Amino acid sequence: MTQVFDYFSQVDLPTPTLPEAEVRALVADVFGVEVDVQGLGSQQDQNLRLFRSGHPEPLGVLKISNPAFSEAEVDLQDRAAAVVAERSPQLRVPRLVEGPRGPMSAWWQTSQGRLHARVIENVAGRTLMGSGYLSPAVVAGMGELAAAVSRALEDFTHPATARVLQWDLRHASRVVDVLLPSEPDPAVRELVQEAASAAREALAPVAGHLPVQAGHFDVTDDNVLRREGAAVPDAVIDFGDVTASWRVAEIAVTVSSVLHHDGASPESALPAVRAFDARRHLLDAEVSALWPLVVLRGAVLVLSGRAQVRLDEGNDYASAALDRELRVLQQAVSVPLAVLTAMTREALGRRQADGPAGPAWSGEPLLPPPVRTVQLDASTESPLNDAGAWREAGTLDAAALAALDAGADVVGLPAWVPVLAAAGEPLPTGPDRTPTGTTVWLARATPLTPGGGRVARARGSLTWTAGGGAVTVSGALGEDAGDDGAPGGAHVLPARTPLLVQRHPAGSTPPPARVTPRLARAWRAVVGDPGAALGLPSSPPPSSPSPAGGAEDDVLARRHRVLAEVQEHYYGAPPRIERGWREHLVTVDGRVLLDMVNNVASVGHAHPRVVEAGTRQMHLLNTNSRFHYRAITDYAERLAATLPDELDTVFFVNSGSEATDLAIRLAMASTGRRDVVAMREAYHGWTYASDAVSTSIQDNPNALETRPDWVHTVDAANSYRGRHRGQDAWRYAPEAVAVIDELAASGRPPAGLICETFFGNAGGVALPEGYLEQVYAAVRRHGGIAVADEVQVGFGRLGGWFWGFEQQGVLPDVVAVAKSIGAGHPLGAVITRREIADRYRTQGYFFSSTGGSPVSAAIGSAVLDVIQTEHLQENARVVGAHLKERLTELGDRHDLVGTVHGSGLYLGVEFVRDRETLEPATEETAAICDRLLELGVVMQPTGDHLNVLKVKPPLCLSQQSADAFADALDHVLTTGW
Ligand code: PMP
Repeated sequence: MTQVFDYFSQVDLPTPTLPEAEVRALVADVFGVEVDVQGLGSQQDQNLRLFRSGHPEPLGVLKISNPAFSEAEVDLQDRAAAVVAERSPQLRVPRLVEGPRGPMSAWWQTSQGRLHARVIENVAGRTLMGSGYLSPAVVAGMGELAAAVSRALEDFTHPATARVLQWDLRHASRVVDVLLPSEPDPAVRELVQEAASAAREALAPVAGHLPVQAGHFDVTDDNVLRREGAAVPDAVIDFGDVTASWRVAEIAVTVSSVLHHDGASPESALPAVRAFDARRHLLDAEVSALWPLVVLRGAVLVLSGRAQVRLDEGNDYASAALDRELRVLQQAVSVPLAVLTAMTREALGRRQADGPAGPAWSGEPLLPPPVRTVQLDASTESPLNDAGAWREAGTLDAAALAALDAGADVVGLPAWVPVLAAAGEPLPTGPDRTPTGTTVWLARATPLTPGGGRVARARGSLTWTAGGGAVTVSGALGEDAGDDGAPGGAHVLPARTPLLVQRHPAGSTPPPARVTPRLARAWRAVVGDPGAALGLPSSPPPSSPSPAGGAEDDVLARRHRVLAEVQEHYYGAPPRIERGWREHLVTVDGRVLLDMVNNVASVGHAHPRVVEAGTRQMHLLNTNSRFHYRAITDYAERLAATLPDELDTVFFVNSGSEATDLAIRLAMASTGRRDVVAMREAYHGWTYASDAVSTSIQDNPNALETRPDWVHTVDAANSYRGRHRGQDAWRYAPEAVAVIDELAASGRPPAGLICETFFGNAGGVALPEGYLEQVYAAVRRHGGIAVADEVQVGFGRLGGWFWGFEQQGVLPDVVAVAKSIGAGHPLGAVITRREIADRYRTQGYFFSSTGGSPVSAAIGSAVLDVIQTEHLQENARVVGAHLKERLTELGDRHDLVGTVHGSGLYLGVEFVRDRETLEPATEETAAICDRLLELGVVMQPTGDHLNVLKVKPPLCLSQQSADAFADALDHVLTTGW
């Protein structure tokens, strides 16, 4: 980086600008190689890419050094790079290139004077330039690179490391002092001044204990490279800032470069710190110094960047960087240094100074001992939040007042327990949900007990200081509540109004009322719990933040221990979700997510009508379906009524797998045959028969090779990426018909054909027009029956049609359905014609204990009620059309979007690397889903290549939520994943 003033050893001189012809001649003359040259962006050195004449592969990068650099400094850079290359062979770094006359490094006599020129290796790849999103894996990769460089240079010495660099963080404080007076913007001056003085104060006690060594000290987003196609960087370039400095400065510089990226906050840098510490253990003093150094780095960047622009108005590079530099500083000061340090200790598993509970309260309790205390539970799982009450602003206050009315003296909402109640609009965001103080409601106006300490009154708050600790009470204190002139100097707290009581170190301002669950432990370790000051029990420390952003507990580990490994879960680090409401899911730490994937929760999560129907029936009766009760009859009639008259006979089971399995057995029983035709790449279930007809390689990579001999497959009729595309998709039907005809001709006419009526497993791809008409006719011509798997696409989801087969204008002989019909309750059904059902007799009788049980049947009827009374099919049509339009429009701006499939609220966004070859963007799709989760959207990939977003939210999805999803996806596609 350029030095902007001459306080330090280096003086800023103009970047050399040798003409290309002169460069070519000098390279040939001095290094003995004929080359072509291509100019590269230059900041302080002149950089050119060299190609051996006529060769496409670059020979290296020619750096004509800024004359400000001494020979020793140039040598320092080259030697440091060579040492790193030797000690860390897995890391790519640019070394000097060997030419026919030895290493290509020499002093040149040029038209612009004597200049040093050298050719270093061209390191292929892209930097992380700009402000795009950096995933936790990428950030961790940056930390690993910083650690690798730091280890490699551990005992590297060179005379030029004695130089004094402006970027050396040991001098940052001085650089700020020098540059600050000439900063014209008072707001920037104030920001920097405050930030720097807090950083100096935090740094002073540890600075003398920080180890010093040689380092790169510029392992930043601009100076790390990732190979084409790779996400994580594996190369470090630009050894221009090599020097000796505090060892911890290596990672502090890397951390600062993360902070300006899209969506980044200080927590986003933790993966880098963790990765660094794992390879290069940070001493306690270094942990304490890290964030003050990040702040100072931000301050130096801001001031020198702005000074540079003032000096050199045409320097676009420098002016483009100004916003980013300001963001670095703003992010670094967005949370107090003590909390950032506590957060880092927490992340590295180090001890906190006062333990995880934070500093204790040494003063007297402020309130007289209450007789009856009630603790409110407003967490995700609290009944207080049932039936959507968490969205209402008045929920908490109403619960507190009710408890006071029932006789409590004090009602408390404890600090440090995430609060869902009164969350308000549930748009996906990362809201601050953990209160840093206890909220109390008092039955009566209560004087604060006197005792030691000092009380200071500000507008709307009272701060009580005793010993090294303070407690601040804020809320509607009223005019005289804290009047120092009240009798006996007492301060009276008002009755029946929420008062937030926060504990914090004396002399500091109270923390924000709520913080994110990820920072809660760190805040608590710094400020403590107000319980003791109130004479109430303290809250336990909040659970550790997890890498996925939620609170960490051992439920996942226990799940892994006790469940079969193949019973997988979404996401590598899944949030723990304990509540749902409409199209939203709520994590255990109160984060509200938008559920865009859950077709099981068809009518919306926790629908009161479904809850009520199930609860009522559980109170009455639940038993097996051989008993005679009303619910099964009512529901079977209603289900049959949604279908054409011919389909009049119902079997009840518990799942989609059972439904398709039974449908296959019906086909076999009713025809007396055993061969079945199925479409490739489909999924029909896990039971023996349903699995046999499933050939989705995503569910079973060996699917096609392991079919039993009774299964015969036809091509997946995918008009987007199948064998026949677009206009040619009509060919699938005659080809499938030929397979069926051949089977019959070979003496094995099929019992039936099973397929989805709209290709759900491929991401909601419509079958070609007339497809089912032709294949159903062929099967029937040979005496077989047509089975429709409507498990995914039936029941109103397609918007324009209640059943998927209606879209194809056909009538199947057997319909298998499940999932959405029970809205999450295990319920499946097979509906067929009476004479087909009757022929099952040849197999004995049919009985599924809880298939169509009283509770299942009651829930099934309630689901139908909701779909009908809330016009959910119509909602799927209208909101689905709007969403499809929004998603399709994304394709105009983002090349990754190959197409958008589907109808209603069954949509598929297919990502491709190339719109011609349709190369599936599998890794990208996985990363996009992870990033969407960070933004609060639950989404998963589907399709044989896992490159399609399966958009199948609850049918009650609002237009606002549809837009929130489209906006979030747009943001991810714009800023990266
Ligand atoms: N058929 C289709 C089309 C499905 O998508 C599924 C489940 N994904 C099933 C059948 C099996 O349903 P279940 O998981 O309820 O057994």
